[in-house]
Amino acid sequence: MFPGFYEEIHEEFRQVVREFVTREVSPHYRQWDADHMIDRALWEKASENGLLGLAVPEEHGGMGLQDYRFRMIIDEELARADALGVALALHLHDDWVLPAVLQFGTEEQKAGWLPRFMDASFVTSVAFTEPGAGSDLRGVRTKAVKQEDDSWILSGQKTFIGNGISGDGALVLARTDGSDVKERGSASSFSLFLVQKEDNLGYRPGSQLEKMGLRASDTAELFFDEVHIPAENMIGAEGKGLEIAKSILPQGRLAVAAAATVVAGEALRQTISYVGERQAFDGPLTQFQNTRFQLADLQTRLEVTQRYIAAAVDAHNAGELDVVAASKAKLWAAEEAKSAVDTCLQLHGGYGYILEYPVAQAYLAVRLLTIFGGTSEILRETIAGDVLG
Ligand SMILES: Cc1cc2nc3c(=O)[nH]c(=O)nc-3n(C[C@H](O)[C@H](O)[C@H](O)COP(=O)(O)OP(=O)(O)OC[C@H]3O[C@@H](n4cnc5c(N)ncnc54)[C@H](O)[C@@H]3O)c2cc1C
Repeated sequence: MFPGFYEEIHEEFRQVVREFVTREVSPHYRQWDADHMIDRALWEKASENGLLGLAVPEEHGGMGLQDYRFRMIIDEELARADALGVALALHLHDDWVLPAVLQFGTEEQKAGWLPRFMDASFVTSVAFTEPGAGSDLRGVRTKAVKQEDDSWILSGQKTFIGNGISGDGALVLARTDGSDVKERGSASSFSLFLVQKEDNLGYRPGSQLEKMGLRASDTAELFFDEVHIPAENMIGAEGKGLEIAKSILPQGRLAVAAAATVVAGEALRQTISYVGERQAFDGPLTQFQNTRFQLADLQTRLEVTQRYIAAAVDAHNAGELDVVAASKAKLWAAEEAKSAVDTCLQLHGGYGYILEYPVAQAYLAVRLLTIFGGTSEILRETIAGDVLG
């Protein structure tokens, strides 16, 4: 980000993150990418270094770092090390599941779950999407049926679930009003549950889905076959699932916007270095006006994006980022990153197409960002709804 965005305390935190990434991530990342799976030990090491559950309040043993700039530093350092798959895995745990528990969990739930978020004994997934329901979550068919003792029996199928194989549990959106699953549910048809894999034979990850990028982060289908969920695992009130999902959208979308900005910045930094070294027609690529003009445009657009995202981060830190503002931030930053990284790849020529080059990995990574967490089209609908009143 730009000078002045971070303060000294953030830079001190950056040193911890940078050393952690150099020591624990970089030496193994290629292997994890090939395995489509991060080594579980990384989560434990991240925990030892205080990098999980940054926002967990002190009374639950956390650091209470509500300032989103700390999360961004983790993304920046992982992008700098070309280890974006790790960034995605951490993002699901810290930017989607954790905020739901922090905002809507009871005191008992927080006391029980939050320490496990931080000590890496409960690595989590967000399980909203299904084969027949992505943008339109009212189409979710996974259902939970209430038992006499107020516990629930969960059955259904999810897809595209990050940390789906490696994780210990998931924040699951399920239909709880008994409505016909072949019909769209109503706004109050759904509830959220924190479901644990351990001791639940019916909680079964499917096989690995082969992604084009971000391969170190595992992505899979999840199957629930009569999974028993204790009553106390419901997050928020019955029928409030969609409302809660909407409430956590601002942080989730801000996180994607921030990551997009970070990846675009890193791709540009690497491209500036590349075009200064690569020789053609008796000089570096920077001798061409096209190269210079492209870099000028990329730098200018990046700075505009950085300022815009910085304002969104400030609003989030002040508790004032609403879903429309977060949608605008994600729409802008993700579309910008997609276009910027494409230009950076072009400036690398044929090497940009070779997967060993970070710009090729960045290209594959940013392609997800206009889809995941709300497609650009859905974001435009949200924004248009606000514009038109
Ligand atoms: C790598 C990866 C990781 C993911 N991780 C997770 C995860 O961890 N947890 C999870 O729950 N989900 C996850 N997802 C799912 C992701 O959030 C969905 O793919 C996304 O919400 C889009 O849903 P869909 O794929 O069903 O597309 P669809 O909803 O079928 O959309 C298809 C196309 O139609 C367009 N469209 C749909 N509705 C409208 C509309 N009203 N107006 C205009 N256009 C519209 C969309 O914009 C899109 O272009 C992941 C996806 C991927 C690819």
